[in-house]
Amino acid sequence: MDCTAKRIRLLPRYLFAEIDKKVRIAQEKGVDVIKLGIGDPDSPTPDYIVKRMQKEVARSENHTYPPDEGLAEFKEAVAGYYRQRHGVKLDPQKEIVPLIGSKEGIAHISFCFTDPGDINLVPDPGYPVYGIGTLFAGGQVQLMPLLKEKNFLPDLGDIPEEKARRAKLLFLNYPNNPTGAIASRDFFAEVVSFAKKHDLLVCHDAAYNEIAFDDYRPVSFLEIPGGKDIAIEFGSLSKTFNMTGWRIGYAVGNSSAVEALYRFKTNIDSGLFKAIQYTGVEAFTNPQREPFLQELRTLYRRRRDIVVKALREIGWTIEAPKAAFYVWAPVPEGYTSQDFVAFLLEKTGVVVTPGRGFGEHGEGYFRIALTVDEKRLQEAMDRIKGAVKFK
Ligand SMILES: *Cc1c(COP(=O)(O)O)cnc(C)c1O
Repeated sequence: MDCTAKRIRLLPRYLFAEIDKKVRIAQEKGVDVIKLGIGDPDSPTPDYIVKRMQKEVARSENHTYPPDEGLAEFKEAVAGYYRQRHGVKLDPQKEIVPLIGSKEGIAHISFCFTDPGDINLVPDPGYPVYGIGTLFAGGQVQLMPLLKEKNFLPDLGDIPEEKARRAKLLFLNYPNNPTGAIASRDFFAEVVSFAKKHDLLVCHDAAYNEIAFDDYRPVSFLEIPGGKDIAIEFGSLSKTFNMTGWRIGYAVGNSSAVEALYRFKTNIDSGLFKAIQYTGVEAFTNPQREPFLQELRTLYRRRRDIVVKALREIGWTIEAPKAAFYVWAPVPEGYTSQDFVAFLLEKTGVVVTPGRGFGEHGEGYFRIALTVDEKRLQEAMDRIKGAVKFK
């Protein structure tokens, strides 16, 4: 049988396959591999959330199909959180839709807006789902390079007029994966004008909106005047509450965009397990939320400091990221990102992610995920110190 659709056959080759294979071989040889590749929180979901789930899973009324539009209680909890945290007022009926993890909504939004031949503006390097969703919907990707000299913000003036005119969606993600960059209100305001001028929808991926350091607090795109007219924002409980495996997120913002996504979803999925939605209510409304988040930020900040300090000692000039849980650093001269990652694995047993895996403009960089404990992280950095000189 070989009748797969073009959209499956044309999927880009899995860039990490080669690294994964090398890791397996090293582990089989008995190497103590330290994995700093994947951005999946290593600490558990907080107890107060797990306890609510234990209760909700036992209630038989939660075992049936959830309401199509999502549980009112969960949407109200998200609205309450946006009001408290961002000063943004949301109508739970019209401006919020629960998602089976934000990745799901990010992948599906293109199906709601992008017709074959339309263009989506996609940051590069970036989370691969923006581009894949675009291609699946039959759209074309116009890359927006994120360059260090522009603080890893796209230069909207660089987007060719003809492409901007054909564009339907503009994807953004701040705090940013993989670069750790943040966006100012001024930049977001510039995006609002650009979107209004070209009549497009901004899709802001805010997966890391609670992971920030040194008194910096990420802003919501919806805080920006006019933001709600032209934007949908994707939120996730995955990174905020160490809940990547639970699959719960949400989209908020412009009511027609939310309605389109909701209408699409009701035709292909039947929503989120009610017990998980009630647990989401607990995550946002329990008074333990903020103390837990403070602790989480401290945990990642300390890990960040270990990595930044060590890289500087070896000769890297890098700034400490103000948000997200990654360190994005240039590879030493003479290496491609994939060569450097392979070299590092072979010499030290430490696995990091090659920047090229996030797009062509990720070439020349590698990403360290701060998702192992301090002791292991220090061990990894000590090994790197012994093997690498940065030139
Ligand atoms: C982890 C991550 C997500 C994902 O989340 P889910 O809600 O778990 O689907 C979305 N965007 C970016 C940039 C991420 O790093």
